[in-house]
Amino acid sequence: MLGHLLHLAGIDSFIIENRSEDYVIERVRAGILEQSTVDLMIENGVGERLRREGMPHDGIYINVFGKRHRIDFAELVGRRITVYGQNEVVRDLIEARTVTRRPLYFEAEHVAVDDLDSSQPLIRFRHEGTDHELRCDFIAGCDGFHGVCRPSVPAGALTVYEREYPFGWLGILADAAPSSEELVYTLHERGFALFSMRSPKVTRLYLQVPPSESIENWSDQAIWDELLRRMTTRDGWTPNIGRITQKSVTPMRSFVAAPMRYGNLFLAGDAAHIVPPTGAKGLNLAASDVVVLARALKAFYERGSSDWLNEYSDTCLRRVWKAQRFSWWMTSTLHRSPDETAFDHQRQIADLDYLTSSPAAMTSLAEQYVGLPMEVSFESVGLKECRRA
Ligand SMILES: Cc1cc2nc3c(=O)[nH]c(=O)nc-3n(C[C@H](O)[C@H](O)[C@H](O)COP(=O)(O)OP(=O)(O)OC[C@H]3O[C@@H](n4cnc5c(N)ncnc54)[C@H](O)[C@@H]3O)c2cc1C
Repeated sequence: MLGHLLHLAGIDSFIIENRSEDYVIERVRAGILEQSTVDLMIENGVGERLRREGMPHDGIYINVFGKRHRIDFAELVGRRITVYGQNEVVRDLIEARTVTRRPLYFEAEHVAVDDLDSSQPLIRFRHEGTDHELRCDFIAGCDGFHGVCRPSVPAGALTVYEREYPFGWLGILADAAPSSEELVYTLHERGFALFSMRSPKVTRLYLQVPPSESIENWSDQAIWDELLRRMTTRDGWTPNIGRITQKSVTPMRSFVAAPMRYGNLFLAGDAAHIVPPTGAKGLNLAASDVVVLARALKAFYERGSSDWLNEYSDTCLRRVWKAQRFSWWMTSTLHRSPDETAFDHQRQIADLDYLTSSPAAMTSLAEQYVGLPMEVSFESVGLKECRRA
């Protein structure tokens, strides 16, 4: 997305990816786009397929011990979310990049960054058997949580804030038509479960499991038994069953590294912060970071001003921490913790009772779930005008 925004602003960039094109297009991860992420794609000319194939949702259900409650985003805050796989977003962006003929390297090996605090930081990598050294004005560290950029910052320059949760998510994709048009978040005595979808024929479902759980311990039958046990509501709603085509376990953590800059390296997305997926914020935060960065780089090249580059980290972190707080709250309210006390559990029940009965509480969830406003609007970046030009 950053490469695309920079292209629209007439700024050269190289994109260096260590995986293959097929791998990143097939990699199933997030699937919920906030309205501002949808607007960002559409306004910048990469949202045609999203507009056609994305599934807009006006609300979600919360299933508390078998009783389903609906939270109506459209009515409460006049905004909505769209279900569209992250891999589809990646596919659309690769296609847009390919059309521009700007550099995009897949399967880059031995990627390393250096001289980060100089005016010409360095990227080294090997591609198709040839070693490359790239001197550039700036490096955008958009290489995810396990990438090389954040670990290349000297020890002590970043402060890390971290929380690990005593559970993970077992996620499956199933060839089954979604039995609900909207997501269903469930709290059951045996733990959390989530019903979501990827297309009119594919259901995506999750179960709370211990963080170190091995997927080998779960037969397909055992997964369906547990999903049905937790999700089936008193009025008889239940997910459709189908062939499981993919299954995995992901541990959950909250993580922020600050500041999101060292010298001329700017960290964005999961390279700088991780949220537990309950609030569906990871992809959306990555998108809002790069809007802030694109605006700052555009101001640097057009006006010679570094002011927005200098403010980049603080601007992003304001939104990041609000999303962290929301994701932590959604997670702790909807999961059963192995070390919870009876007091904790009663407080959790009261929290959900309040949420599902108070219009004020529902509005607060709706406002955050559809996404707080981006810290800078992409219209203000002037990127729209660039695209038209
Ligand atoms: C299994 C899983 C499930 C998820 N589910 C959800 C969900 O349901 N909802 C949600 O909102 N979020 C979810 N997320 C989080 C969401 O996918 C991320 O927040 C989002 O991908 C962040 O985007 P990013 O561009 O910062 O990082 P990434 O999407 O991780 O992109 C970083 C890229 O850098 C590449 N890379 C890594 N190291 C190097 C290197 N050394 N050199 C070159 N390239 C490198 C990677 O291959 C990758 O393509 C999930 C994440 C995972 C891992």
